[in-house]
Amino acid sequence: MIKIKNVSKHFGGVKAVNHCDFEIKKGKINALIGPNGSGKTTLFNVISNLLKSDSGEIYLDGEKISGIGDFKVSRLGISRTFQEVRFFRNLSIKDHLEIALREDDEQLFKGLFEKEIDFKERIQEVLDLVGLNKSLNTLAQDLSYGQKKLLDLAMAIIKPHKILMLDEPVAGVNPKLRKKIQEIFKTLNKKGETILIIEHDMNFIMGIADHVFVIDEGAIIAQGKPKAIQNNKKVLMAYLGE
Ligand code: ADP
Ligand code: MG
Repeated sequence: MIKIKNVSKHFGGVKAVNHCDFEIKKGKINALIGPNGSGKTTLFNVISNLLKSDSGEIYLDGEKISGIGDFKVSRLGISRTFQEVRFFRNLSIKDHLEIALREDDEQLFKGLFEKEIDFKERIQEVLDLVGLNKSLNTLAQDLSYGQKKLLDLAMAIIKPHKILMLDEPVAGVNPKLRKKIQEIFKTLNKKGETILIIEHDMNFIMGIADHVFVIDEGAIIAQGKPKAIQNNKKVLMAYLGE
């Protein structure tokens, strides 16, 4: 689905992403895990064209997407969240979801859903899915931290897409909500969604991921099923050395 070929991104002497090579699998829950500072967010930024890579290429369903710009990548169907959630001041839950829905041109919109969509219905559907049961007119800034994470997730989901890329969707979230978010991912996956989750906490990923990529010092050092990863010496060393 997404193919990352020999991608590097350095900041001065820091090799944030260093000859990265891997392929994200369609219809699966893919996880990108690694210690703090290992290059996860930088890699996300390069895939979504917020940052230009120094070298290498990235393909989405066979089409080269590296270097085409973040707006085009977004229109081609990569929907992402950010590690630090940010909302518009004085805009409501409903406003935010409408903006996310309208961000794309109608072509992609119709292509993915093949019929006109009732915004209201779609918004309610997504809010039900993530379990955010607040009034639609609630200002985003008035939500609790956990609720903000859910709204951010809802915005990524409602935007027409082929793949969801989520940067630490449960960072700072309490254990009960973590479980709930795990269930949301399972539900999305059952609907056929392709997901790539960045996570620092290995335990969170173990219960849900189909395939895990481990990044350390900007390079993929291991990949495979969660169980195999958990016992991989290189992976344990990377985490212990943190
Ligand atoms: P992760 O998301 O895995 O915690 P990051 O991708 O944020 O890691 O960072 C990888 C490395 O690149 C770190 O050493 C970080 O300090 C560095 N880095 C990230 N962004 C920048 C930047 N804009 N300028 C300079 N260094 C950066
Ligand atoms: Mg990060």
